[in-house]
Amino acid sequence: MTAPLPAVEDLRGYTAFLKALPYPAALLTQSPSGLHVLVGNAEFFSFVEDQAANELLDCEDSQRRQRNWRHRAQAMFDSQRRSDRFELEFHDRLGLRAYSCSLTWVEEDDAQPARLVLFTATDRTSERNAESTLRKELMTDSLTSLPNRIGFVEQIEGLAENGRPAASKATYAIIGFDLVRFSRINESLGAMAGDELIITVARRVKSVLRAGDVLARIGGNEFAIFAHVGHGLSEVLQIAERVRKAFEAPIRLSTYLINVEVALGCALAQEDSDDIERLLRQAQAAVKRAKKSGALEVYRANVLREALKRFTLENRLREAIDNGELTMVFQPLINLQTGAVKGFEALTRWEDSVLGQVSPNEFIPVAEESGLIVPLGRWAMCECVQTLADWDRRFGETLPITMNVNLSPVQMVRDNVPRAVEEALRYAGIAGNRLIIELTESALIADPDKTRQLLGALQAMDVTVAMDDFGTGFSNLASLQSLPIDVLKIDRSFVTDMIGDADKIAIVRAIVSLAGALGMETTAEGIETPDMADALRKLGCHFGQGYHFARPLPPQEAFHYWLERSAAPTI
Ligand code: C2E
Ligand code: CA
Ligand code: CA
Repeated sequence: MTAPLPAVEDLRGYTAFLKALPYPAALLTQSPSGLHVLVGNAEFFSFVEDQAANELLDCEDSQRRQRNWRHRAQAMFDSQRRSDRFELEFHDRLGLRAYSCSLTWVEEDDAQPARLVLFTATDRTSERNAESTLRKELMTDSLTSLPNRIGFVEQIEGLAENGRPAASKATYAIIGFDLVRFSRINESLGAMAGDELIITVARRVKSVLRAGDVLARIGGNEFAIFAHVGHGLSEVLQIAERVRKAFEAPIRLSTYLINVEVALGCALAQEDSDDIERLLRQAQAAVKRAKKSGALEVYRANVLREALKRFTLENRLREAIDNGELTMVFQPLINLQTGAVKGFEALTRWEDSVLGQVSPNEFIPVAEESGLIVPLGRWAMCECVQTLADWDRRFGETLPITMNVNLSPVQMVRDNVPRAVEEALRYAGIAGNRLIIELTESALIADPDKTRQLLGALQAMDVTVAMDDFGTGFSNLASLQSLPIDVLKIDRSFVTDMIGDADKIAIVRAIVSLAGALGMETTAEGIETPDMADALRKLGCHFGQGYHFARPLPPQEAFHYWLERSAAPTI
């Protein structure tokens, strides 16, 4: 038998107690007709009202019952539990409300024979909000608001739990893509511009994806797309094509137009590979390969071995630099009008005992990405002027030739270049006017003030500056005019197959006349045949370089090359 309900006056002590509490609290009891609230404070009644009006509708009935305070209190009376705690959530106008609720028996005594339960609810809303903000932050890339790597994996696993990817085997894929040469852009234009570029990239890709595809930024310049692909690889190819197309138009960053290139790689889910993390790693390995091949790569098992190789490439290069195993070859630059040897371009060579001869096109990017370019570039600078000093000594007087050396834009940013140059010249005893530093266009559009400073410092040392690979980058002509640049090196791509290609000839002609207008000289790279040399000479190009004259030569042979031609120059 249930005891009769206590009279209200008997509860006076409790009423005062409940009123003093700063959170919803009430005394509950049970009669045959159900649950009764004997007394409650004002906070309690407004809590009950809010909760009833906003009961969570998005969960199942059983869950809802579990989170309903009435249900839990009823269950308390029905069982012999000594206490109960539960979390209760609902949404009101202001958003999520969260409470920690507790139910405990009130000790019975003579004055209080009824069975009473004290209900309290502590507001946890702000903690819960902080938690969920933190969680969101942990899962979101703050720059693009896309999911980051953790968020991406979590989101896809969430989809899997809801039965979507798992429902149809091998019908989903991860397509990864990296921005090629992003570190160069970042180093040249600055981190702010780099950020802006990333945001634009995210926006463009997002606009070409379908509803349901998930885009994430999983690293600095790395993105990943999760996509359902009912038609397997052909559908992946379509998506990849759309992503590539998104970058057909260059991206404008303040006054620069940047041509963004992406390396795309993908991994298709296998029946047994439902592990998203693994699929993501496979897609990334494919992207690494794509960087080399320039085409979309699909993950194959041995792709990971390539990653390993790259790792060893970096380590072996570090050892080669430390152990002085790099060498240098010298390619003559010829005065096209007179046939005289104008000087040499110093090019670094690396022959590894295991990997064999590794091309600079392969190890320079590794050096740039790993920071090894700084010691490498310093070595190259010293080595080329030392060689020149060595030739002077052997010849018995100063040779009337110059030495070109390549300077990476990454080194320009990371190293104190004027000091390195000054030290190299001083140590070798070589005058500044015999050194020509070759910069690429991307180096010039770096923080213009810094570039100006560097070029000014080089000019003060009488060092000449040449712009390498001219025509391939995105330099603006105004900066060319205002910077102390003395030579434009016309990129090989315009010179190769120039004969019979009216467009290429027109470009070369335009570059030569531009250089003339700016008071600069021109050097054509990649001259492989006599008629190319002839055509370039007729176009008014000053100097030429290429296999037609000589391949890059070891120091001894380069010296003899000059010796032989210094007497009777011929083209
Ligand atoms: P680059 O500065 O454009 O150097 C010219 C490249 O074209 C050299 O390749 C040279 O061997 C090649 N070449 C010369 N004449 C011809 C020709 O007639 N036909 C063809 N097809 N190729 C020709 P290499 O030595 O493999 O160097 C590749 C790139 O690596 C260089 O391009 C340069 O950007 C970079 N590099 C090489 N050494 C250094 C270095 O010491 N420091 C830095 N920062 N970069 C370097
Ligand atoms: Ca060069
Ligand atoms: Ca070049």
